[in-house]
Amino acid sequence: MEPVTAFVTNAPRGGVNKVRTEIEDDPGDLILKPVFTGICGTDRSIIAGSLSFPFNPPGSDYLVLGHEAICRVYDSQNSRYRVGDLVIPMVRRKGKCINCRMGRQDNCSDGDKREAGVTGKHGFMRELFPESSEYVVRVPDLGLEKVGVLTEPLKNVMKAFEVFDRISQRSYYPSDDYSMNGKNAWVIGTGSEGFLYSMMARERGFETYITNRHPIDENRLEILEKFGVNFMDYSKSPLESADNIDLLIDTSGDPSTVLRFASRLRHNGVLILFGTNEKAQSAPMSGSFIDHVVEKNISIVGSVDGAKMHYEQAISQLMKWHHSNGNSIESLITNIKTPENDNLFERRDVNNIKTVISWQ
Ligand code: NAP
Ligand code: ZN
Repeated sequence: MEPVTAFVTNAPRGGVNKVRTEIEDDPGDLILKPVFTGICGTDRSIIAGSLSFPFNPPGSDYLVLGHEAICRVYDSQNSRYRVGDLVIPMVRRKGKCINCRMGRQDNCSDGDKREAGVTGKHGFMRELFPESSEYVVRVPDLGLEKVGVLTEPLKNVMKAFEVFDRISQRSYYPSDDYSMNGKNAWVIGTGSEGFLYSMMARERGFETYITNRHPIDENRLEILEKFGVNFMDYSKSPLESADNIDLLIDTSGDPSTVLRFASRLRHNGVLILFGTNEKAQSAPMSGSFIDHVVEKNISIVGSVDGAKMHYEQAISQLMKWHHSNGNSIESLITNIKTPENDNLFERRDVNNIKTVISWQ
């Protein structure tokens, strides 16, 4: 490949450099050109060197960053893809276990999968890259060029709802009209994943609340209102108002907050753990909490990543949101930068939801 501009780190040590270089990579039947790449908390943590699991591809002394992207096909050796087609590259690459071989590397059973921009595989923050069509998902070219960059974070949400659907079937879960009317979902954390989770819970019919330990600005409240989601600053409101939770989703990774809200789950409730924070302060679990979980048949489950079908579900959902609510979904993208901007990876301002880099 010719030399390209790329954002690279040295994993797991961290740091970030913009370089122009020839990048040795896995071969692919497609060459992709990013339209937008998203920046998320994981990218910032890799750069800060605060995660232990990222590593460079074998034989490389750097890792190209980036796992959220929407791209156009720049060159194709595959008759199913034409130059100009809009696609999303997938993050996880198969290892050798049975789940990976069946295309469910999101449920990898031995940890030997790789993740673009994170573990052992170059990511998408570069002008051009080779890609195998096995790992791309097509996007209909119907105005999704910008919101499509939310496909990768939203596919995590779709996977978690697949997990929820399976787990909640252990008892009769819906209301007595067989819908989620009257059921309460709470989402902890107001980052981009928290927003997408709360919007999806509302979409599924839950009365939905999103919460943080501080207020959020008007702009974010307005977006939530358009999607019918309620916000609560739990540092101000008594937790009693969070009674009767049927579905609790955590995107904070904070143990004491999770335990506080989980003690409000009602019979047959489901807690999905999604956020992670290795450095969070520990919180003790009481005997009465265990009793609450046991006696009420509460399910606690972790969920990571998503499979090809979840990318496809995310694209359909983005299309629906794009054509409703005056395209409010686009307002989740609060910051558009270019590769020439300085401080692209600085700490997320609390009122910023999603920063993307435009490569056009
Ligand atoms: P993010 O922007 O950092 O969002 C985390 C949110 O949690 C922030 O709004 C943060 O508040 C809030 N928070 C932190 N401590 C809290 C507390 N004690 N109470 C209430 N809220 C609290 O990250 P993101 O991109 O949305 O991702 C969310 C989490 O999911 C991250 O931990 C990320 O590592 C993880 N993740 C998991 C997967 C997976 O597959 N399982 C995939 C992607 C990301 P502030 O606004 O004050 O910062
Ligand atoms: Zn595997």
